[in-house]
Amino acid sequence: MSVKKLGAVVCEVADCRACLLWKTRRNAVPGEGNPKAMVMLVGEAPGRSEDIQGRPFVGAAGKFLETLLGEAGLSRADVFICNVLKCRPPQNRPPKLEEIKTCTPYLDRQMRAIKPTLIVALGSFSTAYVFSKAGLAFSGITEAHGKLYEANVLGRKVTVFPTFHPAAALYNPRYKELLISDFKLLKHELLKVGISCRLSS
Ligand code: URA
Repeated sequence: MSVKKLGAVVCEVADCRACLLWKTRRNAVPGEGNPKAMVMLVGEAPGRSEDIQGRPFVGAAGKFLETLLGEAGLSRADVFICNVLKCRPPQNRPPKLEEIKTCTPYLDRQMRAIKPTLIVALGSFSTAYVFSKAGLAFSGITEAHGKLYEANVLGRKVTVFPTFHPAAALYNPRYKELLISDFKLLKHELLKVGISCRLSS
């Protein structure tokens, strides 16, 4: 059933004209991955490579995200990856509040369909949105990252794990280290709660 619901989101996102981003996108990027994933990753918005390919995290930040998933004993096949915004903002500018408001019903539907045990929020915009759904106060990613928040999101118990956006590591080695240590910690937590994918290494 989740496959059908996710498929409906893919179709609707492809033709979406609910905000002005449709005018500048090449492709909408609905998100992809395991429909039964226990772990869902939520980024900010598609960048240039994602806009060209219509797939999330396929550019330089995506390559690093795959390394980070490896640190947690996961692969892309284990998880579902999507974004707060489904279309690229011009020049990769930050999402506008109005765009987030208009677009996030798609993300909510994806969360309802997948029913993840754990949501990894990548960066400030994603964490702010997921925290808002969880009724948690957000006072910045530097303070929030690398901790587990037991929350109720859309009527379901879920653990929220905020971390920095992988793109941050591309311009600052300090973020690279922090991201790697967050994903290592995530591996321990996944083992504790029994989410095991390729967790033997
Ligand atoms: N950055 C994001 O937030 N999402 C992507 O899909 C790619 C880069």
